[in-house]
Amino acid sequence: MNKSGKRVAVIGSGLGGLSAAITCAAKGLRVAIFEKNDKIGGKLNISRKEGFSFDLGPSILTLPSVFRDLFAKAGLRFEDHVPIRPLQTHWRNFFEDGACIDLVADLERQKTLLAAVDTEAPAQFDRFMAYARRQYELSDRNYLRGFDSPMEIILDLWGNGLTGLDLLRSMHRGVSSYFTHPKLRDIFDYFAKYIGSSPFNAPGVINLMPWVQYCYGLWYVEGGMYRLAEGLKKALEELSAELHLNREVISIDTDGSAVTSITLADGEQVKADFVISNMEFIPAHERLLKTSLGRWTRRRLEPACSGLVIHLGVKKVYPQLAHHNFFFSKNSREHFRDVFDRHCLPKDPTIYLVAPTRTDPSVAPDGCDNLKLLPHIPTVNPQNPVTAHEYVQLRELVLEKCERMGLTDLRSNIVVEETWTPPDIERNYYSNRGAIYGVVSDRWRNLAFKASKKSARYNNLYFTGGSINPGGGMPMVTACGMQVGEKIAESL
Ligand SMILES: Cc1cc2nc3c(=O)[nH]c(=O)nc-3n(C[C@H](O)[C@H](O)[C@H](O)COP(=O)(O)OP(=O)(O)OC[C@H]3O[C@@H](n4cnc5c(N)ncnc54)[C@H](O)[C@@H]3O)c2cc1C
Repeated sequence: MNKSGKRVAVIGSGLGGLSAAITCAAKGLRVAIFEKNDKIGGKLNISRKEGFSFDLGPSILTLPSVFRDLFAKAGLRFEDHVPIRPLQTHWRNFFEDGACIDLVADLERQKTLLAAVDTEAPAQFDRFMAYARRQYELSDRNYLRGFDSPMEIILDLWGNGLTGLDLLRSMHRGVSSYFTHPKLRDIFDYFAKYIGSSPFNAPGVINLMPWVQYCYGLWYVEGGMYRLAEGLKKALEELSAELHLNREVISIDTDGSAVTSITLADGEQVKADFVISNMEFIPAHERLLKTSLGRWTRRRLEPACSGLVIHLGVKKVYPQLAHHNFFFSKNSREHFRDVFDRHCLPKDPTIYLVAPTRTDPSVAPDGCDNLKLLPHIPTVNPQNPVTAHEYVQLRELVLEKCERMGLTDLRSNIVVEETWTPPDIERNYYSNRGAIYGVVSDRWRNLAFKASKKSARYNNLYFTGGSINPGGGMPMVTACGMQVGEKIAESL
């Protein structure tokens, strides 16, 4: 069949939408993207103020090979458009008792640093990494490559490693079965950050993340993460895909059995042979397809956490910070319980703090620090909303904690601030209740499975992004979009 005449409409230009669009266009389909905001990238977003350049969304790039593959589809070389640099210090971990433990790229140096914490830790680390590697290898042959249901994976791994896949135990149990030191347990538990989930609820297979970080590196995009979005825009242009900004889609139109068009906010109808929604699965069903999903589906697709995202320009440099830092809660388990089980603001949150000037001085004026502080917090709860005042109180608590843990006079050195609450995130990206990583990974709700790429009802409707398998996090949503593009091309 001639693919060139087929029209694909993509709703939203997050990484999942962009990668689906690039893949479809590279396959010869006619692609048009409709984005409600005035720039592409979705949560990969930027704000420039008074000489500071704030990455509003992601700050850690992992698995750059996914992006290399995507750019190659457009006949481009990733590194020519998006210069990236590996970080040697991955994370610096601060604890309330003054302890500070680095995670570093070099494995031998890592073991020396761990030995200073616990003499048993280097051997425990080796065994943990062998387990993490196994989780990655078992997932990489199916789930990460596009499988959509537990049954597909069971069939793929039957007699071939299924029992090695750590699905029923929690991620925390997995970590604790290797590490005995409580601080090391806290640190390796916090790899759940990458998917906005709790290590006490997420399945052990998510322990593949440390292997991904150590084996494939932790990267920074020179000039700021938004250069990734700009590089993708260039790829779209190379492939002559249409990009329509400030065009909100208000409905996906059907004839009962297939999707026929989308309708934009100004009333224009755009006919399409295929529609790909990068609007999350639940909002897309409720707002664009006007269907309500059952209680079981909503429970299964519970959103991942949100965050209080505090961007500070400060007229002081804090030399003790690495590029990526964690300020741990005194009681990590309570932090996770508050956010994911009690759904309340954490009383003593673990704070992720990014200081990109350690790698890239261009993102702040001389003598200043550009800081992103991100405690994970619950998503918007319409039945019992957090008040604006409570978010302000949490901001205060976060800044006080950072000052107590060494960032002296932080508050009095702030010269620029931009803070995003969960309602801001929901309003800007239409994510489900302000989630920042799509659907939560929880072994009781979903075994870490998200929604399927293809609509169960309409043959020519597809979904991509953080709420869809294997989504959550930049490389996974990008892989998801590529898999959607491949599926559409295969269907022709
Ligand atoms: C603060 C923060 C920190 C993060 N840190 C990291 C990190 O360090 N590393 C990492 O890998 N990931 C991180 N993430 C997660 C990562 O950013 C996301 O997983 C990923 O960018 C989401 O991509 P997506 O394809 O799901 O689309 P989204 O980014 O959600 O974009 C969806 C797009 O669709 C548009 N849209 C929605 N509805 C409509 C409509 N009806 N009409 C038109 N347009 C519409 C939206 O405006 C938006 O542009 C972070 C996210 C946040 C917010």
